[in-house]
Amino acid sequence: MKYYILFGPPGAGKGTQAGAMAEKFNLRHISTGELLRGEIAAGTPLGLKAKALIDDGNLVPDEVVEGMIEDKFNTVTGVDGFLLDGFPRTEAQAVVLDEILGRRGEALSGVISIMIPDSMVMDRIRHRAEIEGRADDARDEVIRHRIETYHSKTEPLIAFYKSSGRYTEVDGTGTVEEVRERIFSIMK
Ligand code: ADP
Repeated sequence: MKYYILFGPPGAGKGTQAGAMAEKFNLRHISTGELLRGEIAAGTPLGLKAKALIDDGNLVPDEVVEGMIEDKFNTVTGVDGFLLDGFPRTEAQAVVLDEILGRRGEALSGVISIMIPDSMVMDRIRHRAEIEGRADDARDEVIRHRIETYHSKTEPLIAFYKSSGRYTEVDGTGTVEEVRERIFSIMK
């Protein structure tokens, strides 16, 4: 099985690109953000707890998303691999992912990092707010907090994965198609 991580700041276009990547390479796209929004929409106890954190731009506890990921690995069949979007987001999650893969006798296939400047993050999320209506996209202060959280908790993962030799950066500026071609040329 292939295990790819799609990495990048909020609004980098991970969700947009993930669909095309999953289709082309027969991967299951797993977005922890989408899974959490599903729990919120279903009104589960987990969703209720997650909503308060997400709406303020905070991360949910590591164990919550780690459990979701392992559950998908255990239950999804009929694909050639998985494409993780929004996970891992902390060093603790990255360590646990390695453990989960180790238990399965598997290893990461690659980390693809979509890079865009902070100034563009704001613009893209404001634009997405008009289309998708996500509560965590509605307030500038929440978006700013998510950008800060990305820099403090998630960006350190770049060094973590660079040392593994399976890390590639892609310029996330330009059209959706341009970015997609950059990503496909790496995965081939
Ligand atoms: P974005 O890429 O715009 O930040 P996501 O849909 O990936 O959007 O995530 C939305 C929110 O869900 C995050 O701000 C965070 O609160 C929560 N979340 C998603 N993935 C994780 C994760 N791996 N660890 C902790 N919280 C997460």
